[in-house]
Amino acid sequence: MDVTVIGAGLAGCEAAHKIAESGYSVKLVDCKPKLFSPAHKSANFAELVCSNSLKSDERGTAGGLLKNELRALGSFLLRCAEKCKVPAGGALAVDRELFSKSVTESIKTHPNITVASETANDWNDGELTVVSTGPLTVGGINDALKRRIGDSLGFYDASAPIVDACTIDFSKCFSANRYGKGDSDYLNCPLTKEEYSAFVAELAGAERANLHEFDKREIFEGCMPIEVMAARGEDSIRFGPLRPVGFVHPETGKRPYAVVQLRAENAERTMYNIVGFQTNLKFGEQKRVFGMIPALKNAEFVRYGVMHRNTYINSPSELDCYSRLKNSKNTFIAGQLSGVEGYVESIASGLIAGLNVVRALKKQEPLLLPPTTIIGSLYRYITSPNPNFQPMNANFGILPPLAEHVRDKAKRKEEYCARSERDLLEFKKANDLIDLSEKM
Ligand SMILES: Cc1cc2nc3c(=O)[nH]c(=O)nc-3n(C[C@H](O)[C@H](O)[C@H](O)COP(=O)(O)OP(=O)(O)OC[C@H]3O[C@@H](n4cnc5c(N)ncnc54)[C@H](O)[C@@H]3O)c2cc1C
Repeated sequence: MDVTVIGAGLAGCEAAHKIAESGYSVKLVDCKPKLFSPAHKSANFAELVCSNSLKSDERGTAGGLLKNELRALGSFLLRCAEKCKVPAGGALAVDRELFSKSVTESIKTHPNITVASETANDWNDGELTVVSTGPLTVGGINDALKRRIGDSLGFYDASAPIVDACTIDFSKCFSANRYGKGDSDYLNCPLTKEEYSAFVAELAGAERANLHEFDKREIFEGCMPIEVMAARGEDSIRFGPLRPVGFVHPETGKRPYAVVQLRAENAERTMYNIVGFQTNLKFGEQKRVFGMIPALKNAEFVRYGVMHRNTYINSPSELDCYSRLKNSKNTFIAGQLSGVEGYVESIASGLIAGLNVVRALKKQEPLLLPPTTIIGSLYRYITSPNPNFQPMNANFGILPPLAEHVRDKAKRKEEYCARSERDLLEFKKANDLIDLSEKM
């Protein structure tokens, strides 16, 4: 076999198919049906463990742009999804069983793919390998990773929401660090007593997402959601993440009653994280309740807070820019394990791993997509230095700003899409990839 792919999920199937279609032989290993993770139930590959939606497919959305790029790069799984789609407005939703069945059949009948139903516990660093065992990795792969990267492995994703900087009301917040220490790194959103009380009441009573049993056991030991903290008493979060000590409101000259802090999520400061707001609220509730913070009244959420079990590598410190282990360059990490978040993001990561494995087999240098594409910027995001790294999904906030700022939101998003299309086409021409989309 030329390559081993471990994990026949969304990323692994996409990678294996890409390599096999290029004429190389692949061993695809999956523990199913002998062993299932707590969320996997089907013996088929590419199982969608939760929602059957692959999110928006509309132009002018980040989800739509991601799919557009995948089409342009000839994604096998996106092709399967389109064949199995069910009506879902502007979203691409699929009949999940038909989807997994269709992927599994194509994989199992592919002349260049050999499937092995076994639990992988390690791999050979001397051979080209794609490790894509996903957020619920089982067996010895966690230990095998730890042997190579030490403690740089996360086991749950308890992340706070991230908002688009363009949509923050800067007239309702101020830049400062607590006690004026160092540079003014944080944006601080002051709340009056009345605003705070109304916020806490709504936060404590807001609707929460259902957790899987295994998530309940594991996550809450590690991290308390902001809504649970708020329900413990009116002042609890004012003595926690919203404590105002060390701040002076520039307009009143006094200490605010409470302060919500925003921390830049990337070096360009196009996205801000709401500090200490790890949450398990339903997405609509996050928008409604966090929108009560005056500076965030019209904020657009590029990523909502989530809490679930999620095995992922601290990719900024352990992966090179092509998503290979820094200390084992034959090992490509793909899918959620590499620090991307979401079904379609995992497919994209599998596709790029597949393309780069093929290049490695041809003794060519790996490729990095332009930063103006959403896939290219996602790769850059997960592999750039970040002391507070949490997995990331596709959103416009990770793209570099446009050469000229466009005020109108819809026009701005259209411009992002047009720029990605232009640059991806140039990239494909320059790298002899022009025939990829014809395989769709
Ligand atoms: C509970 C849960 C719900 C989620 N819901 C959504 C959602 O609704 N929408 C969304 O966009 N994203 C969701 N995600 C996030 C993520 O997009 C999906 O988990 C996605 O399937 C990740 O793709 P992957 O290829 O990385 O891993 P997976 O699709 O999980 O594939 C991993 C494969 O590796 C196999 N495997 C694991 N360990 C081994 C081993 N040691 N040896 C051999 N095989 C192994 C597994 O059996 C599996 O087939 C969810 C994640 C979780 C954990």
